[in-house]
Amino acid sequence: MTTRKDIILQDAAISHQIDLLRFTAGEKKKVLAIMSQLQKDLRAKLLNDLTDFGKARVNKPEWWPECPYPESVFPMTIEEYVKAIPDPRLRTAISGSLGREFWNIASEAIWEAKIKSERCTCWRCMGLSKDPYGEDES
Ligand SMILES: [Zn+2]
Repeated sequence: MTTRKDIILQDAAISHQIDLLRFTAGEKKKVLAIMSQLQKDLRAKLLNDLTDFGKARVNKPEWWPECPYPESVFPMTIEEYVKAIPDPRLRTAISGSLGREFWNIASEAIWEAKIKSERCTCWRCMGLSKDPYGEDES
């Protein structure tokens, strides 16, 4: 759910971007009004039109990696975990330690996926000596 703070932050970010584009005061006002309406429309769409799955998808870029710990492979729920390790101090110690490991794995996976998504796939960058389709003779 979008909070008031999120809205203020988004608006500040948009204002800053518009400042960078060097619009006149009048132009800036018009652009801000359009952006603000677009934001309202988008928010309404997100809250009403989309399923939870759809909401998660629109917030992430298409190259975002899948969770490497799917429920189908690791079916234990958090409630079962609490039952299995009833000592709260031990539980905190274990989950903190594992959480840090998982964070590092996830962080690496996201970074690699981002780099891969930005890599050029033209024949030159793929290390070929000529265009395999013969379309680019330069
Ligand atoms: Zn290239």
